[in-house]
Amino acid sequence: MASKGAGRARLLAAGSLLAAVVLILGALGLLGGLQGIAAQLTADRWQPEQPTGPDHVTARMRAVRAAVTKEFALPFGTGCYREDGGIAGGGEHPLGRACDFMLGPAGVKATGDRAKLGDRIVRWVRDHADEYGIWYVIYQQHIWSSRHPERGWMPMEDRGSITGNHFDHVHISVY
Ligand SMILES: [Zn+2]
Repeated sequence: MASKGAGRARLLAAGSLLAAVVLILGALGLLGGLQGIAAQLTADRWQPEQPTGPDHVTARMRAVRAAVTKEFALPFGTGCYREDGGIAGGGEHPLGRACDFMLGPAGVKATGDRAKLGDRIVRWVRDHADEYGIWYVIYQQHIWSSRHPERGWMPMEDRGSITGNHFDHVHISVY
C-alpha cells in the first residue's frame, strides 16, 4: 500500500501548493485594493478648486508656483493659464491648475545645468506632492503622478516637439 500513501502525499502537497497560490493571489489583490483606496483618499483630500484673480490660477496652483519659484532661480519664468491647453481634453492649463516652469528659451532643449535644474524641480515635486496637493509632474517625456506613485517615472508618448515633449520646461498640475 506504499503507492497509495505516496499518492495521498502527492495530493496533499498539491493541495498545499494550491492553498499557497490562493493566499498569495489574495494578498496581491488586497495590496492592489489598498493602493486603489490610497489613491482615492488622495484624490478626495484635494477637492478641485476654481481659478481666482487676474492670473486665472487656483489658490493651490498659486501656492505651488510661489514655492517652486522661491526654491529655484527661474530666469525664464513660468506660464500657467492658457485658454488652449494644447493637448486633447485640454489638460489643466485652461482650468488654472497647471504651470510650466521654463528652463530656457521655449523650443530649445535644456542641457547641462539647465537640464539638472529640471531634475531638481521634479525631485522637489515628488518630495512635496502630499503637502501641496500636486497631481503630476512632466519632464523630458516622462511623468510622475501622485495618483500612481507605484508606477514611478513613466515614459510618455512622443508629442513631436521639444516643447510638447517637455525638454525645455517642467510641467506641474495640481488637483
Ligand atoms: Zn504645461
